Amino acid sequence: MLRVGVTGGIGSGKSSVSRRLAELGAIVIDADEVAREVVEPGEPALAAIRTRFGDAVMRPDGSLDRAALAAIVFPDPDALAALDAITGPAIGDRIEQRRGGVPAGRVTVFDMPLLVERRLWVHEHLAVVVHVDVETRVRRLVEQRGLDEGDVRHRIAAQVDDAERRAAADVWLDNNGTPDELVAAVDALWRERIEPFNANLVSGMRTQRPDRNAVVSPEAAWCARGERVVARLAAALARAGATGDVTHIGSTAVPGLIAKDVIDIQIGVAALEDADRPEFGGALRDAGYVLSVGNLGDTPHPAGADPAGWAKRFYGGCDPAQIVHIHVREAGSPGWRFALLFRDWLRAVPQEREGYAAHKRALLAADPRTDVYAEAKEPWFEDAWRRAWAWADETGWAPSPGELVSPE
Ligand code: ADP
Repeated sequence: MLRVGVTGGIGSGKSSVSRRLAELGAIVIDADEVAREVVEPGEPALAAIRTRFGDAVMRPDGSLDRAALAAIVFPDPDALAALDAITGPAIGDRIEQRRGGVPAGRVTVFDMPLLVERRLWVHEHLAVVVHVDVETRVRRLVEQRGLDEGDVRHRIAAQVDDAERRAAADVWLDNNGTPDELVAAVDALWRERIEPFNANLVSGMRTQRPDRNAVVSPEAAWCARGERVVARLAAALARAGATGDVTHIGSTAVPGLIAKDVIDIQIGVAALEDADRPEFGGALRDAGYVLSVGNLGDTPHPAGADPAGWAKRFYGGCDPAQIVHIHVREAGSPGWRFALLFRDWLRAVPQEREGYAAHKRALLAADPRTDVYAEAKEPWFEDAWRRAWAWADETGWAPSPGELVSPE
């Protein structure tokens, strides 16, 4: 059920993490192992490699001469791309096959060095990045695995940098400490996030926000979290052959604004009926989101406007460590437009952002219950709606819908 991707630079301890996750009950799929499997004698990918690169890359016994192949492809980007074009799909198919064979309800771990480089983390529910400082990695690999120091440094330099890995990481596992500390961190991750996340997926339970004092100070991580959710949803919809637009909206998309710790996402679809098709719901469910039945619209603005323009479908995420709400709206509808406008207006106008924050604080002081607070906020929107649209007219604002989805 739950798909976890584990990655990290060479010598980070990625294999140690996967091993521990296997002990805890996950089924681990090792990308390197699969990559070796698909070029074994008798595999179609090996035949294709022979056709492309000739007998020089074959051993007399009919197996692949890896060293000879490496000598051809590493200095030549075109040759490397050709090899990737052969092995990439074969590896992808084999991994999908393996995952398809996993009993329902089990956690699978995809141990993949290039999870970030190949942007494969978008297909995983969680991306775990194992991190160790470069010097420690070099020392461990030289001392424990007997690798050549120059070679290790060369390979580290060729991999993506930490900033890119950090942006993709839902979980950043620091492995600068002892092996026991790493095991303890993996155990905690399993207990606190992976296991409950998987249980929620199996039972179709979304994570609920706390019922009191839910508003917190702005977090720098909100935008990065929003971007990851957007990337995953866009990938899930593309896999299902859907079209639409996906973007981070709401207060957590406005840097510096206090907010409920909720990542709000808008998916714009051509028609709401599209969102009622089984493939659409199936894609969201597969990505870890559960439909909230009966949650069918927002309060129209201005008051008395046609509620049809404010209709939506609402989904909630299953990750116990973060609350994600998805609002599916018809692209171009008043509700869709206002969500984008409201975010852009608050981003652009500091006084309005401050005013909204002050209003939130006052409401919370009056009654910290989340439902009461959410209800009490509504009248403020009526007037804010007018000011936001006045700003839009003045500035010539036009909606920028975010990441566009087209079928894969
Ligand atoms: P990767 O799979 O990311 O290349 P490994 O899991 O093989 O990395 O770890 C690299 C080396 O460092 C291995 O020899 C491993 O036993 C060792 N190692 C992993 N974590 C620690 C740690 N916390 N302290 C000391 N050595 C470690």
